[in-house]
Amino acid sequence: MLAGATPLLAQDDQVRLALDRLVAAYPDAFAGHDAKVLRWRDGTVMPVSAGAESTTFAERLRHASIVDQFRIAYPRGPLAKPPAVDTDPGRFRNAAFFTKMYGDCKKGEVAAHLVSVTWLPKTLRNKARGQSIRVTSVNHVDAHLRAVSAEIDALPDKIKRAAYPIAGTYKCRAVADTGQPSTHGYGIAIDLNTAYSDYWYWRPHSGRIVYRNRMPQEIVAIFEKHGFIWGGKWYHFDTMHFEYRPELLVTQ
Ligand SMILES: [Zn+2]
Repeated sequence: MLAGATPLLAQDDQVRLALDRLVAAYPDAFAGHDAKVLRWRDGTVMPVSAGAESTTFAERLRHASIVDQFRIAYPRGPLAKPPAVDTDPGRFRNAAFFTKMYGDCKKGEVAAHLVSVTWLPKTLRNKARGQSIRVTSVNHVDAHLRAVSAEIDALPDKIKRAAYPIAGTYKCRAVADTGQPSTHGYGIAIDLNTAYSDYWYWRPHSGRIVYRNRMPQEIVAIFEKHGFIWGGKWYHFDTMHFEYRPELLVTQ
């Protein structure tokens, strides 16, 4: 039977397209790729897959290859319905890839690139808690976050209220349910106001997870416009969480 031939070819095309997007999304980092490796500008070469691919959701959460990062497409724009079971676009992350890109926070390598961003300067100007937050300058994440801040600052207060005070940005820690490095440890993630947020892990989750969200779409759209994905598009939702992942937002 030749049943496997066509899907395999389609899969190769999808891998090529995904890697094209990756190289395009991080022009400072990558020189190019072929079907098997990703080439960094400093000469580092990384395999795009581990050979024997992980097969289950739980394995991919812990041991994702670079290709796995694209295995679930990120749906840009308003969600039509809650994410399907185990549909967590962006949560498969290859640790070697992110550590190479942003550094190992346990060795102080991430802190060396952190810079301050004043969050919502117009809104918080007269408030004692006017927030200075720290994110990485690698890939100009700080500049992208300043652009996000300026646009949210201009929203009506009843909408932007969900965006302050910030719960956190840089923190060298692991993800609660996987033990893998958190994107907060790379300086590319931001958690908004917890009072307007929902996190699957804080709710009863022994059976099927029931989706809940109070984060305004206006805020989500601004983050996506500037290269940040939203944790509210995950079955394992984390609606305060945004992280810089422009490769998942590149449109054709
Ligand atoms: Zn977070």
